This record gives sequence, structure tokens and C-alpha cells, in this order.
Amino acid sequence: MPSITFKGALAENFSPGRKGKLPNWIVCHRMVGFLGGTDSTFAKHNKRGPVSTHFGIGRRPNGGPVAISQYVSLDDTAFGNGNNVDKNGIEVDSEWNRRQFPSRPNLHTISIEHEDGATGHRGIVDEEIIATSIELVALLLSGDPARVRAAGIKFKKDAVVEALGRIPRDSSHIIDHHFIAGGLKPRCWRKWLDDAGFPQARYMKELDGVMHQGGDDMPLLIGRPTGKKIGTAAVRRQGSNFIFANNTRLPIEGGTVRNVMGLVRLAEPLDKHGGDRTTLLLVQSPKAPHWGFLVAGDTDWPAGQTAPG
Ligand SMILES: [Zn+2]
Repeated sequence: MPSITFKGALAENFSPGRKGKLPNWIVCHRMVGFLGGTDSTFAKHNKRGPVSTHFGIGRRPNGGPVAISQYVSLDDTAFGNGNNVDKNGIEVDSEWNRRQFPSRPNLHTISIEHEDGATGHRGIVDEEIIATSIELVALLLSGDPARVRAAGIKFKKDAVVEALGRIPRDSSHIIDHHFIAGGLKPRCWRKWLDDAGFPQARYMKELDGVMHQGGDDMPLLIGRPTGKKIGTAAVRRQGSNFIFANNTRLPIEGGTVRNVMGLVRLAEPLDKHGGDRTTLLLVQSPKAPHWGFLVAGDTDWPAGQTAPG
């Protein structure tokens, strides 16, 4: 992987800290331009408002070898992903909002800009830039503070990197900007000119992740021992564990649960729900092929999101 240069961003272009949140998504952007332009945009005042991402990948100087810039510490909030609401503060129609992911995406995300050379390069993000991006994402998902630090990435608290290690490796968590912003960002990073758009399936393949089909994930049931339904959930199989992602509330119809399939552990603590990290059971609902989680003990419902069965 190319070396990572901490370029920083003008103070007004990001916000220190994450208001107590930890990152749980990685968001990929298209620059519509070059790394050099992104470096300078984030370093100066912008009339249209503050703007930044955590990383940019491109060629420096233009046409040179692939390089990575870091603009914002992993602990801090970059301003690249806040477009899930319109200018009146109304939520846009986007996958992010439909799944009821958190209302302020910037607090929960790591963002990466990708050089596409704009119209002169027909919007194409080069193969080498994509390969570098996948390497960078793999490094972040390692959740290993020592490795991440050794690569030259800036952060203060190990906890922020450890949180990256718990991000589900699926197409609901390694996403492009359009996933959040819908029609407000129709091209970031979707098909444009000669570029095919964010190669999410390739990221999933190379990161050993899960590519959900058709954009909609298989709903899961989450149930109490009483069998009441609650919502959907995301799981990622890691060895004999099932990593549960705790993000959204999507109530669906359900019945009693049965067929306990195995223990799961949570990707995030359930403190605010009064739950316990080890008291969920993976179950299969009577409405096959849905899968679900049976919460052992008297807890409130965990918020959940989607995953394959
Ligand atoms: Zn974008």
C-alpha cells in the first residue's frame, strides 16, 4: 500500500470528536477531480460550506504514483456524509434512511474520496486506485491499532480502531455516498460517463464480506422468549460466531421463534437496551427462510438491521 500522508483539514472543515459515537460504516466517494484538488479544497474555506473526508486516494502529482492523503483523524468527524437530509432538514429517500440508520451519518462513518479525473478522464476511477482503496479498507477493518498506526494513519484512541474491527463486512456497511444521500448525490459513486460506479461486489469479494443481493437484505426476526417480533438484524459469520450489527429498527411481522441454531455475539454493546453481549441465540423463525435472534433474559429490544439468512 502506498504511504499515507497526513494532510489535515482546515479546522472549520471538520469537528473534533464524534459526540461519543464510534464509526460503524465506511463510505466511498468519487472526487469528480484529482487528489491535489481535494487536498487543497479541504485545507481552505469553502463558500458552499465546510467539507472534508477522512481519506483521499489518487495520484500525486496528477498522473503520478497512487498516494493516500489523510485529512481528518479517525477520532474526529469529517463532513462528507451529512447529506441524508435536504436543506429543510427532511430525510431524503435513501437506503440509509429507509433502514433507519443513525440520523447524523458523519458521526458514525469513515469516509474515503477516490480520484476519477472528472470529465477529462471520463469519470473512471483507475484500477490501481480501487486496489489501494480495498487495501486501505482491509487495514481499517483489521481493528488493529498497532497496524493502523504503523501505516501512518492518525488517530488518538485505540477504541476507534477497535470499533472499525467490528464493522460488519457486508454491503450495508461498506457503502457509497449515494446509499446515504440518494438523489442528492446521484453520482457519488454510481455509474457516470465511462465509470461503472462503486465496485461494491469486488470489495466484498476481496474483503471476504457479504454482498446482499438486489439491494434488499433478507429480513430477520428478533424475538423474545415469548416469541414477540421486533425487527430485522444483520449478522456476519466469523468462524463459529455470528456478529450482530445493532443499528436500525425495522419492525416486521413475525411469530414465535424456534430452532435455536447457535450463539451469537454482538458487534456493539446493548447497554442502552439493558442487554448482554452474550445472551442472544440465533434462531430460525417459523416463517422460513427468515432467521432471527432470541434475546435471552429480560431485555429491551436491540435495534437491528439486515443480513443474509
Ligand atoms: Zn460523495
